[in-house]
Amino acid sequence: MTVNKFIRNLLNLKEMAVTHFELDDRQRILNLWVKPYKNGCRCPECNRRCRIVNETDTYRIWRDLPIYGCSVLLWYCPKETLCRQHGRVQENIPWADAYGRVTYRFEYAMLVYCQMMTQKAAAAILKIPPSTLSDILHRTITRIREGHRIRGLKTIGIDEIAYCKGRKYATIAYDIDRACVVWVGKGKGRETIDVFFNEMLSDYQKGKIQWATCDMSQAYIGAIETHCPNAKLVLDRFHIVKKLNEAVDQVRKEQWREASVDERRALKGLRWLLYRHSSTRSKRQTRILNQLRKGNRRIHRAWILKDEFEQFWDYKAPWAAERFLKLWTTTALKSRLEPIRNFVKTVREHWHRIIPFIESRITNSTAEGLNRIIKIVKNRASGFRTLQAFTDMIFLAVGDVDLPAQISEDFRTL
Ligand SMILES: [Zn+2]
Repeated sequence: MTVNKFIRNLLNLKEMAVTHFELDDRQRILNLWVKPYKNGCRCPECNRRCRIVNETDTYRIWRDLPIYGCSVLLWYCPKETLCRQHGRVQENIPWADAYGRVTYRFEYAMLVYCQMMTQKAAAAILKIPPSTLSDILHRTITRIREGHRIRGLKTIGIDEIAYCKGRKYATIAYDIDRACVVWVGKGKGRETIDVFFNEMLSDYQKGKIQWATCDMSQAYIGAIETHCPNAKLVLDRFHIVKKLNEAVDQVRKEQWREASVDERRALKGLRWLLYRHSSTRSKRQTRILNQLRKGNRRIHRAWILKDEFEQFWDYKAPWAAERFLKLWTTTALKSRLEPIRNFVKTVREHWHRIIPFIESRITNSTAEGLNRIIKIVKNRASGFRTLQAFTDMIFLAVGDVDLPAQISEDFRTL
């Protein structure tokens, strides 16, 4: 076995031969001069063998996986060929995409590492600067997702998410049945979501959507009702609960403002206690809240109403749920608590979008689960400066395409 062949086998270089090598010991770079293994050039479009028309001496360099702390660079001068069907084209490079600066093998490792760790950590392992990795990652993901179409969307969820420390927003569309993200768009509101419906879905696909869920923003409700003629809209449970929690908190704040120094002592630490779902409250915590009956009647009343409202989600029959909600709203209106009364107004306004929850059972918990993953991705990178980097990570973590699996099996080695 020649040394060149030994290196080729050692590094498991497929579809190529090593003609020459040089180890830059100081910079820890292994330079390999290679050529496609099979004789003759092929057209990248049709893979037909073609005649060589031009042999250039401009080298292109591809980065491969590093070994033993050494970066590995492949050097080769691609030839120009004449394809009968596609004309003058640069020959097919078997180890990389036509415009790629890294090998398929490198792309695969990069995708897998970025699913597991921060881009910074992945960049350190792959021995490239983080900004370069972010660049290559984006190109790879864009190439793999190119021409990808959304399929079989029946239950859609729309939500907004803040990135870059809460100053910028992105709108995310979920496929709730398959628990994945199908689209990410810049900004929030009607304009953003209209782009999704107009550009990503055909009329046929829009007609196929049966259920939709979103928050109470008029922008998303309006968009869904305009674009999805057959969809039944169910307001997202978590957003409704959040609204009610906010109302209760407002009551607490008002009481706090009016309270004397002595009274305030009793109201301390209530904020998070009031947010708690009854199932996650300890006995001691419930006792503290019950003591409010004597301490502060208004907060107590708000809390009781909030606790009662939880029952709504457990109903199995729509008529029973509706009866409950009618009773609850009547009681709540009589409470003389302005924030709660405002919440009731919201509920009445969206009545026909809340009751279908019982029938549909869309809890949006899948979407919530996805949101959680997105938040982890977001925190791991401690806020993304650009939406592009954020979108890449979302598609990598919870997108509708398994990205590493799109790389040919021959190159899936780490
Ligand atoms: Zn061709």
